[in-house]
Amino acid sequence: MYVCDLTHFLDDRGALGPDRGPARKLADFLAAVVAHATDFERPDEVQGPLCFKCRKRDARPVETMLTVDDFVVWRCLACGTEGQISNWQDSFWDLSAGRPDA
Ligand SMILES: [Zn+2]
Repeated sequence: MYVCDLTHFLDDRGALGPDRGPARKLADFLAAVVAHATDFERPDEVQGPLCFKCRKRDARPVETMLTVDDFVVWRCLACGTEGQISNWQDSFWDLSAGRPDA
C-alpha cells in the first residue's frame, strides 16, 4: 500500500517537484490518478492511468476512487498494487470543482 501526500511531490509553485528518475515517474502517476478520480464529468469508459508498477511489461490501467473521507485511492487489478493519496485538494490535478470553462 502506497500512502502518499501529494504535496511532498510538488515544488513551491505547485508543479511536480522531481525532475527525473523513479520519483518523477511516481509523481506523474499520482497526478494522473488524482485528475482521473476527481473528474466527475469523465465518461466511465475513460480508463485510469497505467499502473506505474507493471506498465513496462503489461500496461494496465488502475482503478481510481474518491473515498468519503476524501482520500484518492487507486488499485491495480493486474499486480495488486494499491495506494492512497492525501492532500491532493487544490492541486493542479484537482478537477473536483469542475473543468475550467473553455
Ligand atoms: Zn500493476
